[in-house]
Amino acid sequence: MPMLPDRPSDRALIGGEWIATRTTLEVEGPSHGEPISQIARCGAGEVDAAVRAAEQAFSGWSEWTARRRGEWLLAFADVIENDVDRLAALECADTGKPMSQARGDIGACARYFRFYGGAADKLHGETLPFEGGFAAMTLREPYGVCGQIIPWNYPAQIFGRCVAAALAAGNTIVLKPAEDACLSVLRLAELAHGCDLPAGVLNVLPGLGREAGAALAAHPGIHHLSFTGSPETGTLVAQAAARHHVPVTMELGGKSPQIVFADADLDAALDAVVRGIVQNAGQTCSAGSRLLIQEAVAETFLDRLAARFSALRCDAGEADADCGPLINARQKSVLESRLAAARADGVRVLAKGYLAETAPAGGHFVVPQILTDIPDGHEVLREELFGPVLVVQRFTGESEALAQANATAFGLCAGVWTADGGRQWRLAKQIRSGQVFVNNYGAAGGIELPFGGVGRSGHGREKGFEGLRSFTRIKTVAIRHG
Ligand code: NAD
Repeated sequence: MPMLPDRPSDRALIGGEWIATRTTLEVEGPSHGEPISQIARCGAGEVDAAVRAAEQAFSGWSEWTARRRGEWLLAFADVIENDVDRLAALECADTGKPMSQARGDIGACARYFRFYGGAADKLHGETLPFEGGFAAMTLREPYGVCGQIIPWNYPAQIFGRCVAAALAAGNTIVLKPAEDACLSVLRLAELAHGCDLPAGVLNVLPGLGREAGAALAAHPGIHHLSFTGSPETGTLVAQAAARHHVPVTMELGGKSPQIVFADADLDAALDAVVRGIVQNAGQTCSAGSRLLIQEAVAETFLDRLAARFSALRCDAGEADADCGPLINARQKSVLESRLAAARADGVRVLAKGYLAETAPAGGHFVVPQILTDIPDGHEVLREELFGPVLVVQRFTGESEALAQANATAFGLCAGVWTADGGRQWRLAKQIRSGQVFVNNYGAAGGIELPFGGVGRSGHGREKGFEGLRSFTRIKTVAIRHG
């Protein structure tokens, strides 16, 4: 594959200018393992310049009326949609995800700007009953400069989720995309810049996590920090932010169960279980990576599931197969060694997909697979594998299903498949997670639905109106008038 056109992918956007860094990093395409671009390698100096630019831009941007900010976001949503071919081609080449999923991600990115564009002028405080002679109220104010550290699995979608909400609320942004995949983010920044976003409102700094990411997390000029990625890096970021008492939103992954009861619509459940783990090669924080199946239907459901997995084809992103590669060689080798260790512990591979003959030899492919016969408490039941690997457990009754569902430190999403209304409600209340979907899974991206974790999955909420509120702080005003 030829190198992608690189303007301005080898630069950082700081204060409205595309700045070259002293050195650059090579980006490889996961579908074939060959270089596709160079990106800037920002460090502490660039972070400092970007935070100062964002600070300078803040007063102007936050003084735009909420309606005017909203109108800018709505216009930008159109610009993203008009550029879908280019953006999706970058996302597909950079992440390896199948082209149709890349196109869907760009559509979702535009929808974030449309949702928060419409919401910008609906955000308000409250009046409060207080003692006589006072008018008391809360104001919702932007934080100021928001630092945002985002991962490689959904660069365009997570850009939309963080940037649209923060801008709508009146903040300015310094964003560090992931070194493994940031070309769509750079293109989005270029488009925003071309749409007359005032200089310094959005600054984008590609680079390594331990350099640009660490410098951003530790910078005293940041007023709010959003992080999406691994729990381990999340801990480092939260510790750095704590030194300056900066509030953080942490989105750290999951080990989400899909619980299928015998009385469920099993056809619908089957589709959702396959989709929930194969999408983006399982590299999704909210992947439905555990299947809990009721004994009474386990044999037939697993037979059908095995048939579906055996037909799953893996190929380069551009081939738009069922499943693309993992993001890089390291993720592939870590996953393969964990799978080998699990097999050595007696875990059985019930079925797996296949690699297309056309799949490039250098691609980081791991075919989708189902693991069964897993010893209780085994690490593959508890820890995120971040690949297209579904682990299966059986249960007899509701209380056992609930115990299995809650037997990880994560708590991001859950799917409950049952026709019993009472059980739907009981489990929705008792499952320890930020979202529960009943007789569906993932609600098609759910931009309107607050999203975030409990426990090791993180804290704070993104998406929906709650996500907008997260980018504001409350000021209480009490005016004595009589
Ligand atoms: P990571 O958490 O290290 O990287 C996420 C982001 O944090 C990237 O932008 C990275 O540059 C940045 N970063 C890395 N080190 C940093 C530091 N010291 N300070 C500040 N920022 C830093 O994730 P990874 O190494 O790319 O992937 C490892 C594992 O993380 C995956 O296997 C998966 O389990 C998990 N992960 C989760 C998500 C998610 O959506 N929750 C996304 C990506 C990866």
